[in-house]
Amino acid sequence: MVAGCGCAACGIGNARLLDFDLSAVEIASRTWAVLGRTDYFDMENGGNIVNVAFIEVPDGVVVIDTGPSKRYGDALRSLIERTVPGKPILRVYNTHHHPDHFLGNQSFDAELIAAPQAVIDNITLEGDGFADNMYRLLGDWMRGTLPQAPTIALDAAKESVGGRDFSLFYLAGHTSSDFVIRDDSTGVLFAGDLAFLYRAPTTPHADMPQWRQSLDTLASIDKALLLPGHGPSDAKDESLTQTGDYLDWLHGTLSDAVGSGLTMNEAMLLPIPARFEGLGVVRTEYERSVVHLYPALEDSLFPVIEVTQ
Ligand SMILES: [Zn+2]
Repeated sequence: MVAGCGCAACGIGNARLLDFDLSAVEIASRTWAVLGRTDYFDMENGGNIVNVAFIEVPDGVVVIDTGPSKRYGDALRSLIERTVPGKPILRVYNTHHHPDHFLGNQSFDAELIAAPQAVIDNITLEGDGFADNMYRLLGDWMRGTLPQAPTIALDAAKESVGGRDFSLFYLAGHTSSDFVIRDDSTGVLFAGDLAFLYRAPTTPHADMPQWRQSLDTLASIDKALLLPGHGPSDAKDESLTQTGDYLDWLHGTLSDAVGSGLTMNEAMLLPIPARFEGLGVVRTEYERSVVHLYPALEDSLFPVIEVTQ
């Protein structure tokens, strides 16, 4: 008897394992977050490591980010239909081009998906590569997933959707284009991956000075609540302080390591301060950041010595 054995080789167990079982948390009036785990992608979480959100506006629903796969997007869509029955989805925003934030786009009407042009360009350029990597990491969880770029390019500072006004902010630093949305009615700010809380920031496309600047901008925006890309919702800008503190430490530590001639492997073994021990996957993300950031830091910090014959 194999029913419910749960092993990866067992079809019945596998069907159960591939269910995201998403749930919505109402973080403000008629505003729901679907909170992912503060882990790295693995076969157990299926890629459910990201926050997405949806809002009931007078005439329909607005969705912010779509998760890591078609399977997740389908589960999100069904959760929205159960939570806000009978209301049409009017707009889907993508905050940036990382795969956990947009690979669920396929489950939504492409004509409704909007982002800044630079996010669309990044998805067009890197979407296939991201999808390939996600298939390698998550196998069957990704079945049927194809990158779908947004079709609406945004550049206005405001847009009204279904009777609700949104302020739109065009920032950068986590990637070359990070899009932030504020619901002007509730004051909830959807900060994407510019903000992490109790989870180590990821840096594969990071520009540290730009990211620092964007954190200052986010701190200056009038808001009631901030939803980070990863971690719980935040009423006190704690995610901005924590992300800034970690990025400053990371940049300083790696610059010092390059300055004292450590190899990349030696830099990976450096201790992580106790205040960051509560951040999910901090050692893994630190090691990934060394790989992402070290070569460019070496290029910028080592003097170029002209060799003459
Ligand atoms: Zn990201």
